[in-house]
Amino acid sequence: MPRFPLFPLLFAASCAAADPPLALRNVTVVDPARGAVKEGQTVLIRGGRIAATGTEVRVPRGAREIDAGGKFLIPGLWDAHVHLVLGTEIAFPALLANGVTSVRDMGGDLTRVDEWRRRIRAGEIDGPTIYRAGPYVDGPKDAPDRLVIRTAAEARAAVRSLQKRGVDFIKIHNAVPREAYFALAEEARRAGIRFAGHVPLDMTPEEAASAGQASLEHMATLVENALAAATRRNESPVAALERLDDAAAVRLFRGMAANRVAMTPNLTAEYAITNRGSAELESDPRRQYVPASLVRYWSEAFQRKPTAARQLLLRRFYQLVALMQREGVTILAGTDLGLRDIFPGFSIHDELRLLVQAGLTPAEALRSATVAPAAWMGVRGVSGDIRKGVAADLVLLHGNPLQDISQTARIHAVVARGRLLDREKLDAMLAVTAKQAGSR
Ligand SMILES: [Zn+2]
Repeated sequence: MPRFPLFPLLFAASCAAADPPLALRNVTVVDPARGAVKEGQTVLIRGGRIAATGTEVRVPRGAREIDAGGKFLIPGLWDAHVHLVLGTEIAFPALLANGVTSVRDMGGDLTRVDEWRRRIRAGEIDGPTIYRAGPYVDGPKDAPDRLVIRTAAEARAAVRSLQKRGVDFIKIHNAVPREAYFALAEEARRAGIRFAGHVPLDMTPEEAASAGQASLEHMATLVENALAAATRRNESPVAALERLDDAAAVRLFRGMAANRVAMTPNLTAEYAITNRGSAELESDPRRQYVPASLVRYWSEAFQRKPTAARQLLLRRFYQLVALMQREGVTILAGTDLGLRDIFPGFSIHDELRLLVQAGLTPAEALRSATVAPAAWMGVRGVSGDIRKGVAADLVLLHGNPLQDISQTARIHAVVARGRLLDREKLDAMLAVTAKQAGSR
């Protein structure tokens, strides 16, 4: 996996070094990697980073001290699948208020995303750390923010131009033609840049896994081709799953694990698609955190009611998620922020609950939103952990998420790049998102 030696420097430059040190005392530190807790810890934060953790940490004079007795500290969460140009910067306060301190942007206008990124790094606005793909690499399609490739030569040129623009990875979508796909895979390997996304319509997930695609997005992409054909012929989507019985799925997942191909199931999005238009979703109060224009677009653009068979498909997706975890596939928690019925920050907690409902342990679910995406992005040691040297992105919870994953949503405070955001501040931030969303 390629490394990004610049990241720590960029991080250090963006941190509020002038803030006094912050000490969280008597806190229970949750380690998602080991699935264990350590009680009675002091976590010392200085210059935006974790300076020390342990029971015998010396707290410097002048430090701000917080008694965190009875609270549980987890690493700041990642949402590994967002589209910021859809959720817009309005989402930023809600993301942070929900403990989402890093995002992987899976496609959108690079200039716009990079302007947000610059302003966040400069401390001009609050927001998560952004890793981004820029435009979707896709075949010809009537959709925005596309870099269209038809041939192998165009695929190679696309990799080179995206690398020159400094993207963190390449996102591919489902209309990339086979020949172009394999050329892109080869060029990306040569350039040392990862590519991730959908399985193209004329390919199988097995082919994508052995070509080195670094992550597959959405459970539905495992049956992308068959699902599209079923929709076209107005057939039950469940038929699309016939090619993926347990034996075939185990073969696929073993291949993915061996090739270190991660999977972002996007169960929240699959749930939302399956239950689109239901009273539960239509009246979800969290719609207030989504730009009003986007909510209008949701109801105009997705009119068709899901079929009853979609419920069977969803149930099968849950089984497959459990199976892939058992077979050693790295799972990344991502929501598809921007899509219908996905709410900034809030939905990552839904995703974690659904992953546990599917069969992951709470520790496995927590890993999928902390250490796993950090490792995927090549920034383990910078993000996703609670130990010395790592960015001070932290979430202080009321209860133990290893016992009950829904505790991740019971947030007492967030630390974002070393800055403490207490409950009062977090509520104020949510109010900002709601206010701006209403008028947009
Ligand atoms: Zn997406």
